[in-house]
Amino acid sequence: MADVKPPELLEVGPHVYRVVVVPDGVMDDVGRYGHASLDRLVIAVAADMPHSVLVDTLLHELGHALLASVGLTEAQEERVCLALGPGLLGLLRANPALVEFVTATP
Ligand SMILES: [Zn+2]
Repeated sequence: MADVKPPELLEVGPHVYRVVVVPDGVMDDVGRYGHASLDRLVIAVAADMPHSVLVDTLLHELGHALLASVGLTEAQEERVCLALGPGLLGLLRANPALVEFVTATP
């Protein structure tokens, strides 16, 4: 179970998404760990997941939010997001100097 909560609000382009952590296995009922509701500006992620899975899922769903206007097919977008989630998580974790550099505001 994750002991660090995700941010409640995340800016994605011009939009502010609310991040909702869904308890009690409700996301399991629909067969997924997360969901990005682009019309509602809500990203839902299942509670009670290991932290790395939660972050992977959040990054995956943010990928959907970022790619919404690109015009990929649903299948293409899903494949890209499946790569983005674990890929970005691994990249950011392995390279704190990169995170510092990218987020710097000189
Ligand atoms: Zn997806």
